[in-house]
Amino acid sequence: MKLITEEKRIALVAHDNKKLDLLDWARFNRETLSRHLLYATGTTGDMLAKELDLPITRFFSGPLGGDQQVGAAIAKSTVDMLIFFWDALEPQPHDPDIKALLRLAVLYNIPTACNRSTADFIISSPLMAQEYERPTPDLERYASTRHPLD
Ligand code: PGA
Repeated sequence: MKLITEEKRIALVAHDNKKLDLLDWARFNRETLSRHLLYATGTTGDMLAKELDLPITRFFSGPLGGDQQVGAAIAKSTVDMLIFFWDALEPQPHDPDIKALLRLAVLYNIPTACNRSTADFIISSPLMAQEYERPTPDLERYASTRHPLD
């Protein structure tokens, strides 16, 4: 189990064709988002910081390694939640990174929204304002000397 506190660490990522959609969603939910710690890939983060006027920790731009940084943060339990508006109609240069990020989000069992309706359901969940014990995978058989979540 890992504790997700009341103050969530939320990673936000949007592909170019979905950036306006994410911006609109974030504007609508600014008040709720302001109660949490926000992270984003480079370009998404620049846009959101300007739009929301909230502090946002920025990773590299997605195609330059940002998705992998978000994935690493999930594996290290320094990000609790992923809002990832990915483009289902256009291939991306960093498709392998996107697949890897989504895989880690599932593996580590973090709340993940890949479209706006799911993001709406997550952001309006009562759990957003509560602590939550996140069940984590049993990785014992993969750990040689140390459990990666310790
Ligand atoms: P960006 O990256 O926010 O730097 O555009 C997003 C992505 O393509 O994963």
